[in-house]
Amino acid sequence: MNITAIYPGTFDPVTNGHIDIIARAARIYHKVIVAVAVNRNKSPLFEVTQRVELLQQVTADFENVSIIGFDNLLVDCAKQQGANVILRGLRAISDFEYEFQLAGMNRRLSPDLETMFLTPAEQYEFISSSMIKEIARLGGDVSSFVPEIVQQQLFKKFNRG
Ligand code: ADP
Repeated sequence: MNITAIYPGTFDPVTNGHIDIIARAARIYHKVIVAVAVNRNKSPLFEVTQRVELLQQVTADFENVSIIGFDNLLVDCAKQQGANVILRGLRAISDFEYEFQLAGMNRRLSPDLETMFLTPAEQYEFISSSMIKEIARLGGDVSSFVPEIVQQQLFKKFNRG
């Protein structure tokens, strides 16, 4: 059976933690679709088109990975894309409660779609997009947490380029 995984998130912006999960998934699933949520209620720093572009650039070497933006219900987007697995990353116990709730809700909405979790290498466990934005906004060095092109875009946003 050909398994296509959809990896949804805000990716505002993509971090080395996300990339670690994508790289692991690309070795497991036939196809990996990274689905970037518009997510207006989170007031993202980057427009969805820019978040998609950054992901396209940093995943260019993975042949079975593609990037899309979406603004509808995840289970509907998964169906449209022919995905049979929802993939999420788990960092710590603190992620668990929310992820458990989300997986349960998505199972109610679409019983055939399985949610699967991958954990990142330990050096990425503490990275979150929100913390990266805060560090970059305050002029800190984020070079070990995000790819260089993401760092450049963060500099630009915060007028430090
Ligand atoms: P969301 O708004 O859906 O939480 P994020 O972009 O913050 O979007 O995260 C997308 C997915 O990637 C989530 O499953 C999240 O737990 C996971 N994730 C985020 N950062 C990391 C990381 N450093 N390592 C592993 N998984 C991560």
